[in-house]
Amino acid sequence: MFILDNENQLERAIAKAKKVRTQVKFIAFGIYSVRGTKGNFYTVKCERMANGEKQVSCECLGAEKGLVCFHAASALSLHVGLARQRQTESV
Ligand SMILES: [Zn+2]
Repeated sequence: MFILDNENQLERAIAKAKKVRTQVKFIAFGIYSVRGTKGNFYTVKCERMANGEKQVSCECLGAEKGLVCFHAASALSLHVGLARQRQTESV
């Protein structure tokens, strides 16, 4: 789990996601299933906390250590697009 605290971090994550180009399945708004390098899927959750923090969590080991893994980045790039469409929500 990590907190997205600035736009640069988000931009870097999205740039990373574009390089890797994996499959992202939409489960619900804020919940995505992302294919890992071994073909397994990880669930990624993007949430906006009550205090305004943008929290992203992924099931993989990298995310547990606080890294912005490419699963989270891939889910985020989709999430950002959906959030913009909704306008009432943001990442
Ligand atoms: Zn991950």
